[in-house]
Amino acid sequence: MNSNMNVGFEDLNINDNLLRGIYGYGFERPSNIQIKAIKIINSGKELIAQSHSGTGKTGAFLIGCLNNIEESLNHTQCIIILPTHELANQCYDICNEFIKFTKLKLGLLIGKIRIQDSINILRLTPHIVIGTPGRILDMINKRELFTDKVKFLVMDEADEILSYGFQENIYNIIKFHSKETKICLFSATIPDDILELSNQFLNDPEKILVEKENLTLDGIKQFYILIEEYNWKYQILLDLYSNININKSIIYVNHKNLLLNVHKFLEENNIPSVYISSELTSQERKKNMNEFKNGSARIMISTDLLSRGIDIQQLSLVITFDIPSSKDVYIHRIGRSGRYGRKGVAINFVFKDKINDIKEIENFYSTKIEEMPENISDYINN
Ligand code: ADP
Ligand code: MG
Repeated sequence: MNSNMNVGFEDLNINDNLLRGIYGYGFERPSNIQIKAIKIINSGKELIAQSHSGTGKTGAFLIGCLNNIEESLNHTQCIIILPTHELANQCYDICNEFIKFTKLKLGLLIGKIRIQDSINILRLTPHIVIGTPGRILDMINKRELFTDKVKFLVMDEADEILSYGFQENIYNIIKFHSKETKICLFSATIPDDILELSNQFLNDPEKILVEKENLTLDGIKQFYILIEEYNWKYQILLDLYSNININKSIIYVNHKNLLLNVHKFLEENNIPSVYISSELTSQERKKNMNEFKNGSARIMISTDLLSRGIDIQQLSLVITFDIPSSKDVYIHRIGRSGRYGRKGVAINFVFKDKINDIKEIENFYSTKIEEMPENISDYINN
């Protein structure tokens, strides 16, 4: 992960109180993307930064931006946009740790909580705002969030945020910013059309990009299991979970209707699991996520709502119950394991007549996806 072993955080012109927070959080040395991105952000350039899942992009933009915010100025200087509640929460928690020894104030703005609660957060004029697109735009429109003195506008999972579902909100948010605001985009996947699109609102950005051939993760072993009938998938799940000791795992399904089916099936077989769905309330989502994080539930079932960015310790296995329709999504899903140089395993359930989907992914990313061997547990527990 840190091929550049000679560079430390103290070599990146990071102020002392922030440094204490970073070390206190347990980071010892910056990863490559952190070294590159922090230097660019310090230099005042805009940035498009791509790097593999699990290489430390969150630290890269948080440390870069936090380091360039004036504690003594009482206005919002940095807005960080993420696509889901879970990611906003995750980023917020990390940021809180980093700023522990500073006087910086931080606010979280996500949807489905009371508008008045968001307003109250903003009335404290946080230096940094972290949130999801809809609520951030809403607060700008309501003149509760002021953008005129924002130095950094960061989009994590930028390709997702700039995709059609969010696009209008994002354009409106950008519109409210001045030319002085530096925009920074981060993601593991930055397709060409997004790169093109970003030309419209970035000003001569620095670019850190990865070839798609180099995008799969060396640390993640990928397998497939051939399926003939849909019901087999349930039986195979049961076999896997009954025979192998799996620390934490995520099961990805393609449709939210399946979440409950899989959850109930596992429950009937006395295998506890939780799931995340857009139909749950914000509190329920938070509760389920926390149970998964603290290990009281070791299986998370999700749609692609959670395919990106989520960083869970001890997550050793990703099961794609259904093969995703897009190759980018595949990379994000399997990237939930094998983080920061650790090892992980991905198992894909694939219909016999759809084996080409697997071959296509293999070719596209120049990777290997092999039929699952009998000794699968050796891979998972290593
Ligand atoms: P990405 O966004 O690139 O997928 P994350 O920012 O979620 O990656 O980081 C992945 C994991 O690596 C997290 O568990 C994080 O705590 C850890 N990590 C990141 N940077 C460092 C570092 N400099 N030293 C040690 N661990 C780190
Ligand atoms: Mg990330």
